[in-house]
Amino acid sequence: MMPIPYGRQCITDEDIEAVIQTLKSDYLTQGPKIKEFEDAFAHYVGADYAVAVSNGTAALHLNCIALGVKPGVKVITTPITFAASANCVRYCGGEVVFADIDPDTYLIDILKVRELLEKSPKGTYSGIIPVDFAGRAVDLEAFRKLADEYGLWIIEDACHAPGGFFVDSTKNQQSCGNGNYAELAIFSFHPVKHIAAGEGGMITTSSKELYEKLLMLRTHGIVKDNSKYQNTGTFATGVDKGIAQEEQTDYPAWYMEMQELGYNYRLTDIQAALGLSQLGRADDGIQLRREIAARYQQAFSDRNFVLSQSGVVEGHAYHLYILEVKDRLGLYNYLREKCIYAQIHYIPTHLMPYYRELGWKEGDMPFAEDYYRNCISLPMFPNFSNEEQEFVIKTILSYYSDER
Ligand SMILES: *Cc1c(COP(=O)(O)O)cnc(C)c1O
Repeated sequence: MMPIPYGRQCITDEDIEAVIQTLKSDYLTQGPKIKEFEDAFAHYVGADYAVAVSNGTAALHLNCIALGVKPGVKVITTPITFAASANCVRYCGGEVVFADIDPDTYLIDILKVRELLEKSPKGTYSGIIPVDFAGRAVDLEAFRKLADEYGLWIIEDACHAPGGFFVDSTKNQQSCGNGNYAELAIFSFHPVKHIAAGEGGMITTSSKELYEKLLMLRTHGIVKDNSKYQNTGTFATGVDKGIAQEEQTDYPAWYMEMQELGYNYRLTDIQAALGLSQLGRADDGIQLRREIAARYQQAFSDRNFVLSQSGVVEGHAYHLYILEVKDRLGLYNYLREKCIYAQIHYIPTHLMPYYRELGWKEGDMPFAEDYYRNCISLPMFPNFSNEEQEFVIKTILSYYSDER
């Protein structure tokens, strides 16, 4: 048996051909593949605008800048996520406040968020970063209502859930990242995620204003648009007589302005070509993930080593398939002996040394900590074969029948 990882990219000949075509083209970066990928991705999730960036973490960072996170700003997020969901607030000098998870869904508990908000005067908090953890969509309709009561913005961390959705109060499907409830949403194209581009990220939004700001921040804060320039003097514009406000079309062709402190967080055309080609198969990938989840579900229902299960959930994108088990460490090591590399998602962020240093400690998030004691992510990726999955299931069942 070949080693079985918990996640693995799927690269086809078509993907390879798309990358080769881009390598042979005039643009390796800042070319036409970027916009093509952005438009296709926006369409896929049902958002008005998309901005491709170098990775999901950069997407979170730019979002925090665009929404005005700075020292003194407090933002609420979940401890059960990849650390970047919280770190982005720290990049801007803001303060991260964790709210515990709902033990049934593993998602940030809206009641815990409400408790936090009610405990402090209005205006204490600026935003919430909920995460569609494991691929299960957060009920953003409910979060929007709460956010509006308290004047908060929402960044949906949808890295686990492109193609996922929740069902709203009028029974409509609301796709993750569609911009109907959250100001901004972010995705990652790391190889373990649904769509692989090597590295890569995407921001989606329905706000034109945020979209334009993000485009600028992605490329050093540079503006190249006659109608938006701020300098009018002779020297800066390079025109002898200087440029008056009403003659703005007179700027020379080389002219540009850096108006804000931005970054180089661009995606390359090579990555965009790969991402675009992968996006074409995204729906098939989700379908396969859901079938894998259903087979796991069937194999492990009514097994007494499983402590709790959230069941098959409509709209789940199944980035991860998680069990909570007895003797997790024993199972984890036993699987490794059989070359099955299960993973743990996640060590709670508030217990990372960096966040402990900021005052967080064990006991602060009891449900997240309990979940972490027992959770294990089983292999889950579209080209996981039936045979491989049967082997994984059999191995897990045999561990519990042999040992106990
Ligand atoms: C992967 C991931 C990120 C970061 O994405 P990168 O592309 O690796 O920077 C952020 N949040 C979550 C929930 C993720 O899974």
